[in-house]
Amino acid sequence: MDPYESIRQSIAIGKSMARIKRTSMKPTHTSPRRQHTGTRPHPLELKKDDEFWYDDGTIILISQNIEFRVYQGPLAQHSQVFRNMLAFPQPPIPGPSHASSSRTTLGSGLVAPCPTVHLTDSPADLRHFLRALVLGGTIQDPPPSLTFYAVCAWIRLGHKYEVDKLVENGLQYLRRFYPSTFTPDPEPPGIWAGPIRKDRPMDLQGRSAIAIVNLARLTDSNDLLPLALLECCKLGADIVKGYRREDGTVEFLQPDDLGRCFAAKGALELSVVNAYLRIFEHAPIDGSCDGGQSCVVAFHYLRYHFRVATCEDVGVDELLVEDRMESDLTNTLCSQCRCTVISDAVQGKRVLFWNSLPNRFELDVVGWGVDWP
Ligand SMILES: [Zn+2]
Repeated sequence: MDPYESIRQSIAIGKSMARIKRTSMKPTHTSPRRQHTGTRPHPLELKKDDEFWYDDGTIILISQNIEFRVYQGPLAQHSQVFRNMLAFPQPPIPGPSHASSSRTTLGSGLVAPCPTVHLTDSPADLRHFLRALVLGGTIQDPPPSLTFYAVCAWIRLGHKYEVDKLVENGLQYLRRFYPSTFTPDPEPPGIWAGPIRKDRPMDLQGRSAIAIVNLARLTDSNDLLPLALLECCKLGADIVKGYRREDGTVEFLQPDDLGRCFAAKGALELSVVNAYLRIFEHAPIDGSCDGGQSCVVAFHYLRYHFRVATCEDVGVDELLVEDRMESDLTNTLCSQCRCTVISDAVQGKRVLFWNSLPNRFELDVVGWGVDWP
């Protein structure tokens, strides 16, 4: 589907609604939009939004049955789409003969009339969007308590209404936890640190990866796809259940991306097991190990574990996180084995695994792997 189709529809609706409402000038929040008749479904009664209703606002955005009365200025300032929409000349305000029924005054319990635009976005998404644009500040400096719901709204609506800075901020946030460069997690520093950060928020894990894949597709941000699809491969049967958005609607992976996960999962698990077997194959190395029998026993058990490993025992992203390497078993190794043998070997296998990810998912990601060839 053409991603701009809904925008064009909204703009078309917005233009016509703006003209209509500027001439009718009814206080829209005080009465139902239309009385139902016969078997027609009962239209939802419009309600003012609790957070975004300014009596002196200059535009009313309607999402489902919620009205948001805000100011045109910030919308036009940040959004090319709203700027174009509001640039169209509006019909003149009705003359005195119509004023008694169509114009109201502030303080009367009603509000002054202004243009109305119907939007197809959910009220929840629109609130996140308005918090960034109308309240100001957020668009330049994302707050530390940012939720994934907000990030999704920023990217979806920012892309739709051409607020480039908002899209960029949302993608930047996602890239902190789904990086495209092989950089060991600095917190906490350690010899086992992998490129997947341990502080990846809970709302960026699990089925949220489905939404991240779709956001990456929407914005042509291919660099997010390898790790997001890798996270999707961990979902098991839940991968077909989709991701539930804040408004309760569910989005799914596109069939091509679903197929990519099915095709890659088994091969990824196999490559993880092979990598670990190679890592432990020849260790400990005579001359460098000073752990004696305890290292010999530890390596024996590590090799045994991966020889009998099943898919349930191995995570597709296991090489990129440090949990496995922090086990009690590896902690019994001598410092020589841990630092000079295992860490170097693990890092080498990690880089190979990392660099292979785009190919595993049949992706073309410009620049992937160039920092660790
Ligand atoms: Zn040793």
